[in-house]
Amino acid sequence: MSKVHVKKDDLVMVMTGKDTGETGKVLQVLPEEGRVIVENVNMATKHKKPRGRGQQGGIIHQEAPISSSNVMLVCSKCKRPSKTGSRIENGAKVRFCKACGETLDVLREKKQ
Ligand SMILES: [Zn+2]
Repeated sequence: MSKVHVKKDDLVMVMTGKDTGETGKVLQVLPEEGRVIVENVNMATKHKKPRGRGQQGGIIHQEAPISSSNVMLVCSKCKRPSKTGSRIENGAKVRFCKACGETLDVLREKKQ
C-alpha cells in the first residue's frame, strides 16, 4: 500500500498518462487503494439506466480514480508542481514545498 501524499482540495498536476499536464483539485482521496479522484481528470463515461418512473437514463461523465503516484502537488506559493516534505515547526508538523521551501499547511497541530 502506498501512502497518498496529497489531500482533498489540493491542487495537483497530472504527470503521466492521457491527462498529463492537466491540473485540477483533488475531490477525493482513496488511501486504501493509493488513488485519488481529481476534478476533470480521467473522465469516464457511464451509461445510466433510468431508475423508476420519471427518471431519464443517459450518459454521465464522471471522474475515475488515478494513482496518487501520477500526480504532484502544485505549490500554492511558487505555482510549480513540487515534491513535498514534512517538518516540525514550533512543535507542529507542517507540510512544505521542496522547490521553494515554503510551508504549505499544518498536518498535525502542536500537542498541548
Ligand atoms: Zn513552492
